[in-house]
Amino acid sequence: MTKKILKFGGTSVGSIERIRHAAKIVQKEFNDGNSLIVVVSAMAGRTNDLLKKSYEISQNFDKKELDILLSSGEMETIALMTGALNNLGIKAKSWLSWQIPILTQGEPTNSRIINIGTEKINEYLKKGGVAVVPGFQGVSETFNLKTIGRGGSDATAVAIAKIFNMDCCEIYTDVDGVFSTDPNKIPVAKKIDKISYEEMLELSSLGAKVMQPSAVQTAMMYKIPLHVKSTFSEREGTRIFSEENIDYSKVVTGVAYSKDEAKITLQGVEDKPGVAAEIFEPLSKNQINIDMVIQNVSSDGKKTDLTFTIKRNDLSKSLEIIKKNKKINYMSLSHNEKVSKISAVGAGMITTPGVTYEMFRALAEEKINILAISTSEIKISLIIDESNTVRAIKKLHKSFKLD
Ligand code: ADP
Ligand code: ASP
Ligand code: MG
Repeated sequence: MTKKILKFGGTSVGSIERIRHAAKIVQKEFNDGNSLIVVVSAMAGRTNDLLKKSYEISQNFDKKELDILLSSGEMETIALMTGALNNLGIKAKSWLSWQIPILTQGEPTNSRIINIGTEKINEYLKKGGVAVVPGFQGVSETFNLKTIGRGGSDATAVAIAKIFNMDCCEIYTDVDGVFSTDPNKIPVAKKIDKISYEEMLELSSLGAKVMQPSAVQTAMMYKIPLHVKSTFSEREGTRIFSEENIDYSKVVTGVAYSKDEAKITLQGVEDKPGVAAEIFEPLSKNQINIDMVIQNVSSDGKKTDLTFTIKRNDLSKSLEIIKKNKKINYMSLSHNEKVSKISAVGAGMITTPGVTYEMFRALAEEKINILAISTSEIKISLIIDESNTVRAIKKLHKSFKLD
């Protein structure tokens, strides 16, 4: 008997017909003799609809109330999935996060799972039942409902896989697996059969929404093998596991992009030790994450221009904080919110020189200007004008022979 997590994303439970279909996948796994915990997301679009409603009530909707509102999406799908399983003659039961409990810690709408109760569900599994659990929601030590960030059902699935010591964690979604780039945007994208945790973590952090980054991080930390596959096809999917299992014939494994970026430039900043710290300290205290940083020193060595990138929805808050910061002197402040970040990721980069050059040359051929650059051992990220995103991705995909 294999102990499995089957996680179904929003599209996979996006209608009654689809829930019935997903239940049949569970039925097959159950009939094969596996012990199953099913994790479900809210129906596709439901979380966004709920968010929209909260905005309609107030632009400053209380985040604690938002946790309660958003948790309701997964409450709907656990019951419907359980109903569909019962209808197929399978013994199944749903649990809400507080009943299990899935204990969380942290800010409203952005908590993280710290522990999960196993007793009740294990008892139910032993009696031959299928447990149906909501993704995305948890409960704090003071019994408040919490959510764990967008796309968080992946993180729930992986956390359950770890704490229940499951043999594998299958992530059912609306594409056939992890692709070399978003298959819905670039049709020539190729399915990747195997990918390392490290590469998947980079790809998902850099915009490949197919897996949520913190879920990949937990899987990597505890060596939980993940299998991403489609709810709607029989194709084999993508296995995410440790590097030693992977054969690297390609330098670049995938290309990701994110359009959530914005760029801020402070011109004519006094060039002395501690200036960057003075600029970034109040931003970090306000939970604003700085991504790329570029500093150009003027020819007289006294002034500098400092450019950095942040998430686009942090832009107005960041500008406000900088304007209020009395500790810094600069000549002018400018910003650009129409930028995107494109990244090439591949563990093969470690042993292959010249990948950065290849990337620059490819974009130069397309006459695409590069506004900022950052690199790590296995990724290169560039900021470009948002309008060039798809053209740049297509070109890189081709240049790195991913087509
Ligand atoms: P789910 O609701 O199942 O969690 P998501 O919408 O969160 O699904 O993630 C699946 C989507 O991720 C796909 O529909 C696809 O458009 C997008 N995506 C982005 N980059 C990639 C990639 N490299 N490989 C596969 N899918 C990707
Ligand atoms: N329903 C949540 C969201 O849309 C969680 C998830 O789907 O993973 O973000
Ligand atoms: Mg998702």
